[in-house]
Amino acid sequence: MQIRAIFFLVVMLFSGAAAWRLSSMADFQLFGALVHRVDTEAPLIALTFDDGPVPGKTEQILQILATENVPATFFLTGKELEQHPELLPKILNAGHQVGNHSYSHQRLVFKTPGFIAREIEQTDALLKQGGAPEPYFFRPPYGKKLVLLPWYLSEQKRLTVTWDLAPENYPQLTKDPAKLSAFTVQQAKAGSIILLHVMYDSRSNTMTAVPEIIRGLKARGFRFVTVQELLRHRPVGY
Ligand SMILES: [Zn+2]
Repeated sequence: MQIRAIFFLVVMLFSGAAAWRLSSMADFQLFGALVHRVDTEAPLIALTFDDGPVPGKTEQILQILATENVPATFFLTGKELEQHPELLPKILNAGHQVGNHSYSHQRLVFKTPGFIAREIEQTDALLKQGGAPEPYFFRPPYGKKLVLLPWYLSEQKRLTVTWDLAPENYPQLTKDPAKLSAFTVQQAKAGSIILLHVMYDSRSNTMTAVPEIIRGLKARGFRFVTVQELLRHRPVGY
């Protein structure tokens, strides 16, 4: 009896861990189209910024991007869009792309299909209301997706965009903007989608690192494009 219970527990723990790992994979989901990078030899990079828009921080990152004359892609939350509708036109007028990062930024795993649909559709409506051109690519909060979210996205023929480079995942780098930028510049490849966060005070080191990341990548010969532009360089038949 005890052995069977232990066996059952081990299986439960393993499948729980496996499901958690599966839900966190940046380059795989069960259903629907997911892009985490583009296989290209063209020296192109897509910078992506998650969360917000937050007043102050949005203007600050837009100023940096304008100074460096590079476009980026912002994955915004519906809740913050609703609180600060004046910020969306500022992002759009500067020539950047925006995408859907859910309404309330909760992990969309173990949620009902209705909840998932509302999170995505409410944010779509706010993007549309603010004049953002479609398509709205989706980036799951915390990169988390398991079964129902990918199923919904696949049914809606919605592209999920993740990343192949997330330098802030390394705590030793986030403490030091110089290290963060050096690592990012070194690790990026042609076709990379880079994930960065600059919208909250807790991410001020990333904000500080962004100009150096851009300059370092330019020095390596890279050019910056939106995610939508990067996708045009996908190999034929992708
Ligand atoms: Zn986020």
